[in-house]
Amino acid sequence: MQLKLLLSTGISVTNVENRDSLPIMIKRFIAPFQKVLLTKRLCPGCTMPLDKADHYPFEGNEEMVVCKCKRMFIFDKMTNTYRRATIREADLFSKKG
Ligand SMILES: [Zn+2]
Repeated sequence: MQLKLLLSTGISVTNVENRDSLPIMIKRFIAPFQKVLLTKRLCPGCTMPLDKADHYPFEGNEEMVVCKCKRMFIFDKMTNTYRRATIREADLFSKKG
């Protein structure tokens, strides 16, 4: 029932809970929606609201945000937006802490 709905609407894929168990093909299909989730201030990995995740002071106007699923994001206080942390930023943060 749910799968039928999922296939007919496509976009509802992002709302499926256990996305990690979905086949690779569907994961690739989901990728563009991860950006959309970030703009909605949700973790693309576990869909937890990033406003509720742990925020740590980082550099300048940025905060390092660590989700409960361990994914790391940068919160820009100037633009009030989230983006994925780069490997360099994650590395820098772990050295700081
Ligand atoms: Zn998460």
